[in-house]
Amino acid sequence: MIKVDEDDPVGEVELSFPYRDVKIRRGEDPKDFYTLDDEVGRGKFGTVYKCVEKVTGMKLAAKFVACPKKEDKKNVEREIDIMKTLQHPRLLQIYDAFENGKIMTVILELIEGGELFERIIDDDFILTEKSCTVFMRQILEGVEFMHRQKILHLDMKPENILCLTKTGNRIKIIDFGLARKFDPDKKLQVLFGTPEFVAPEVVNFEAIGYGTDMWSVGVICYVLLSGLSPFMGHTDIETMANVTVAKYDFDDEAFDEISENAKDFIRKLLVKDMNTRPSAKETLQHVWLRRDTVVSELEINKSKLKRYVIKRRWIKAVNTIIALKRMGAKVDFSPIPSAPEQ
Ligand code: ATP
Ligand code: MG
Repeated sequence: MIKVDEDDPVGEVELSFPYRDVKIRRGEDPKDFYTLDDEVGRGKFGTVYKCVEKVTGMKLAAKFVACPKKEDKKNVEREIDIMKTLQHPRLLQIYDAFENGKIMTVILELIEGGELFERIIDDDFILTEKSCTVFMRQILEGVEFMHRQKILHLDMKPENILCLTKTGNRIKIIDFGLARKFDPDKKLQVLFGTPEFVAPEVVNFEAIGYGTDMWSVGVICYVLLSGLSPFMGHTDIETMANVTVAKYDFDDEAFDEISENAKDFIRKLLVKDMNTRPSAKETLQHVWLRRDTVVSELEINKSKLKRYVIKRRWIKAVNTIIALKRMGAKVDFSPIPSAPEQ
């Protein structure tokens, strides 16, 4: 049985990732430098494969993004630019980048532990409030660093939190595809994100800020503790309507055993007015996360969380098929490798 009760479990040594000043290598083929292996994940934009750097034998990940339009390239370039400024152990690191025809490839640190929620629902994993604090603290450390670099992630959700290894409890935040540089003096508005996790100001197309990520952190914590999604409706429209009124409760029996400290932590983040949400730095000081606070190590029932993860897995699979069908008409997939090549 794996029981998480320490931030630094014995046996999980975290090596620091070698920093490199990444410059996009234009007109070069990543396959000349990296040997591609199995697929490790797929998102709306990219397909991610394991790979090995030929000269060093280093194991990495290669994210291929089809860029039929100039604008698609601009988006990947922005993602690369942002990742370059985010050197931190809780954030996914970049190693190399290519532009080859209409395909852009980003070579990344390889994260082998899979998605956090998938790991938690494993029968071997004992979920407790204490283990939730271990994960939330790390998520906040990553967000705090991003915000200090004046970057908003804007796509904080369970899928974008990966475990470093299959047995340890170290996590990393991934996917900076929607991240933006933030100038507090300039009004920034966006129209994207995942309805379940986006803040009211995003749904209302109002000015966003650091608090926008903090809201999503609050939703992640709510789901982690209960397996319930606080604003989820039957449709995306209904979900967004629930978000805009920012009304939710802890009435479900899933919260019966959850401490007041944990509920207070969520309550502080899930407030409608972005400016009254605490910063990542302040949230790290919340009593629930303080190392001298005694947090329950009683096992939390994971049946609702299991149902939630299985449902999301299914929605993701359907979305992938829809996206592939849509792209299939326009995009030539031949440059995207499907099998290992030397
Ligand atoms: P989205 O659809 O979430 O906006 P995307 O197309 O930009 O995403 P990512 O989220 O970056 O793609 O990656 C897709 C999936 O691939 C992730 O959910 C994750 O499971 C996996 N993945 C991404 N990067 C890595 C990595 N460095 N190591 C291991 N797996 C990864
Ligand atoms: Mg993603």
